[in-house]
Amino acid sequence: MLPLSDDFAREMPHEECGIVGVYNHPEAAKLAYLGLYALQHRGQESAGIVSSDGERLYSHKAAGLVADVFNEKNLATLQGDCAIGHVRYSTTGSSISANAQPILANYKGGTLSLAHNGNITNADELRAELEERGAIFQTTTDTEILVHMIAQAGARNFDEALFLSLMRLKGAYSLVVLRPDGLLALKDPRGFRPLCLGKLGDGYVVASESCAFDIMNAQYLRELTPGEVIAFRGGAARSSKPFPAADQSFCIFEYIYFSRPDSMALTRSVAELRTRLGAQLAEEQPADADIVIAVPDSSTSAAIGYSQQSGIPYAIGLVRSHYVGRTFIEPDQNIRDFGARVKYNPVRSVLQDKRVVVVDDSIVRGTTSRKIVNLLRSAGAREIHFRVSAPPWKNPCYFGIDTPEPSKLIGATARDNDEIRKFVGADTLGFISVEGLQKVMPKTQGYCMACFTGEYPDGQRPSGEFTKDILESGKRHG
Ligand code: SF4
Repeated sequence: MLPLSDDFAREMPHEECGIVGVYNHPEAAKLAYLGLYALQHRGQESAGIVSSDGERLYSHKAAGLVADVFNEKNLATLQGDCAIGHVRYSTTGSSISANAQPILANYKGGTLSLAHNGNITNADELRAELEERGAIFQTTTDTEILVHMIAQAGARNFDEALFLSLMRLKGAYSLVVLRPDGLLALKDPRGFRPLCLGKLGDGYVVASESCAFDIMNAQYLRELTPGEVIAFRGGAARSSKPFPAADQSFCIFEYIYFSRPDSMALTRSVAELRTRLGAQLAEEQPADADIVIAVPDSSTSAAIGYSQQSGIPYAIGLVRSHYVGRTFIEPDQNIRDFGARVKYNPVRSVLQDKRVVVVDDSIVRGTTSRKIVNLLRSAGAREIHFRVSAPPWKNPCYFGIDTPEPSKLIGATARDNDEIRKFVGADTLGFISVEGLQKVMPKTQGYCMACFTGEYPDGQRPSGEFTKDILESGKRHG
């Protein structure tokens, strides 16, 4: 059984990975380390950095948090002025150290290292094909499939081998690739997962989120466009678009939940958009209440937006513990909603006898929401009006987000919202509508909203073994 704190954490959908790249900076590995530190929320299973001094690649990766995996001594071995890094989300059942990234490989075309964020939906097919041709896999990650494809591509040079291989991939990937001659950063043709570009001195940085640039003191330039490849070589950055054009399908959940509020997503402030989502939610789902509180931390901006729009004062009614570890031991005595109590503590003086609007950013299984409602009631809240700044989650994600199987998604199994309300135990319940969500999002971008609508971009819903595998164990994402 998982430690309780993990069990509780698993009720939310999870981002699978964060990636970072540093080009042309004398402290490349240290900067990659700082970048990964800022991206830790995107993955806690393992962390790794591969650096390059222009001739050789140097690697260090292990299971654990960034601060545990790296120290002064091992960072000093990561020589050179280029580096890529990766944090991976915690999963069970998979070999943690073998699947740690970046992957480092030697093949007849030289040495290369790759780190990826996303999920390849035709991975089974490609893996079977490669194994048929004699490839031996050491990990269960999609990233290794790409390494074998590059090695077997029979192309004239590395770039051609990479692009020929990528053309065959379906699904979502943001990727950083390191070779002795430079670094490449790219997004799949639909741009599902984030990847942004920044500038630091004479060099460049890329990262899943711009909060990584802030800690490096780098300047945010922009988000990579769908299908864009940026090659950093010879001191310069060159952008190209080798893939056939496709409509953008940026993961809308990056705005709602995954990204840190201090990040930019598609050049828009995540905090600002979440505040607007909260305001839209207040318009669509008003409540007669005394205070608005957030389920911290990811819902704080939405709760502030709800408060501003409704005129109901914002208050801090739940305090989150940031130091919940994996080694937490459950006391012998059975304590009700223990997992929730470990993570959140209600502020009784704020909640006592109040009619409370509690804003959360998603309801997935409903069990977390129920525990939160119980906590608020136990702290004296008189009425609880649960408001959600995302529509009901009804469908699994195949593009790099770990979600429960459909039978565990309360949005898919409940007959209507009132059934969800009863399960959660709130006095009223309201979700933002899909239309409301679309209204708030910048119109210049295209989004994936398949987990809410069931409309998978380009019919990219995989079938058969892949679906079975990903829903049962689902642990191949990068
Ligand atoms: S299905 Fe949902 S979580 Fe997955 S990429 Fe699309 S919007 Fe994001």
